[in-house]
Amino acid sequence: MLKGKVAIVTGSTSGIGLGIAKELAKLGANLVLNGFGEAGEIEAIRSGIERDHGVRVVYDGADMSKGNAVRELIDRTVEKFGRLDILVNNAGIQFTAPVEEFPAAKWDAILAINLSAAFHGIAAAVPQMKKQRWGRIVNIASAHGLVASTHKAAYVAAKHGLVGLTKVVGLETAGSGVTCNAVCPGWVRTPLVEKQISDIAAQKGISQKEATSELLAEKQPSLDFASPEQLGGTVAFLCSAAADQITGTAISVDGGWTAR
Ligand code: NAD
Repeated sequence: MLKGKVAIVTGSTSGIGLGIAKELAKLGANLVLNGFGEAGEIEAIRSGIERDHGVRVVYDGADMSKGNAVRELIDRTVEKFGRLDILVNNAGIQFTAPVEEFPAAKWDAILAINLSAAFHGIAAAVPQMKKQRWGRIVNIASAHGLVASTHKAAYVAAKHGLVGLTKVVGLETAGSGVTCNAVCPGWVRTPLVEKQISDIAAQKGISQKEATSELLAEKQPSLDFASPEQLGGTVAFLCSAAADQITGTAISVDGGWTAR
């Protein structure tokens, strides 16, 4: 379905981004992997996807907290592959604290990586996608792009902002062959959430297993995690012809979290 297309997935050395990258590669897309990690592990991921799916995969370590680096990632990709078809803005970080104690540096970092990086990437990618008359921009927002929780001021603000940015870009690209949508996951068991489970366990003096049950019970009515593979499937759907008229919207993959 995506044979010959070129996709950038930011933050794809781990978790949801990696699940999305693998799904797009399975469908034939060439990939730019991005994110931090140990060089040997990243190379194993890169060569593994190339081998498993027979696509070209390059790694680019651009730092998503820096607007210029994001724009250069887009430019380098177009130089290298001669095109850019799919941009998945996925890189993200989390930090939790009550608003009055929230460190300003953490606020700045979360806004930069979880929101501004998508702005810079989209701004640089849209001209190329419009020229090709086909493009798919998928912003990985969150249930926290639609509703709030305590102690997540920066994350909730950034993810709500990302859903807003999605609507604007959906409008501005409508009819051009380019679509822009947000995907809003509930809990997905990745390192980002693993840390929150450990924090609950430590605060309440309970086991990891009990903390996991509490985390799910509080928010996710299905009482189960969504998986990186399922998020990959959602992004693949948004890249399919069935989604040609879906733009400027947010799709929840959250086990019912935002239904109540
Ligand atoms: P993760 O920690 O497993 O992966 C985050 C990825 O982003 C990693 O590859 C990391 O190296 C990369 N990254 C972090 N800072 C970066 C930077 N400055 N430059 C480049 N790459 C950087 O987390 P995840 O759970 O897979 O999260 C992926 C996205 O999904 C995030 O935007 C997150 O907010 C969102 N999300 C996650 C959940 C969940 O339950 N895990 C739920 C809703 C939304």
